[in-house]
Amino acid sequence: MEENLNIFALNGIDRKILKFLQKNLSGIFNTKTRILKSIIIPLSFYNSVKKQYDGHKIFKYFIDNLTLGNAKDINIAIFNRDIFISHLNFIFGLGTAFPKACLVSIIRLHPHFNLEYFQRQLERRKHGKFPLFVKKLDRAESALFHERILKEVIHEIGHALGLHHCSNRRCVMSFSNSLEDTDYKGKEFCSICRNSI
Ligand SMILES: [Zn+2]
Ligand SMILES: [Zn+2]
Repeated sequence: MEENLNIFALNGIDRKILKFLQKNLSGIFNTKTRILKSIIIPLSFYNSVKKQYDGHKIFKYFIDNLTLGNAKDINIAIFNRDIFISHLNFIFGLGTAFPKACLVSIIRLHPHFNLEYFQRQLERRKHGKFPLFVKKLDRAESALFHERILKEVIHEIGHALGLHHCSNRRCVMSFSNSLEDTDYKGKEFCSICRNSI
């Protein structure tokens, strides 16, 4: 692939996750993949009625903050808070081809994600670090969490490369409405999608 990949943490993201993405994405897309400096998201993007962040506002802010140098690459923002966009009550991520950018929220991919507990914590502290999850992930859960993140990031990169949703439910470009969908699909592009990149 011609374009390089740039990974940005929005606020703070576990470094292990960023490193995992860097290693896997550079292999899958056969391109230089860098972890760039984190971007702090304004608190005003938090909607206290929905108890979620506004995905469109975050995405616009992210794109506005890209340097001209980065704008020619594929830029990936990783966020660990819940996001909504206009008509959808939550989304795992979004991606556009002009400029090539995507945003993935990893919170709902976490094996211990619990909406009520999470929202209660958010009411107390809207930003900064708070213990989202009480129990540590065991080895299998951690592998599952990483695998889900990788699938959703590859999916959004697919959109950045101009792909649309695929009706093959095993294809990484198939739309995930739920975690079951994410777990059902693979992290590979089907042959039709691969040939359209
Ligand atoms: Zn999609
Ligand atoms: Zn496909």
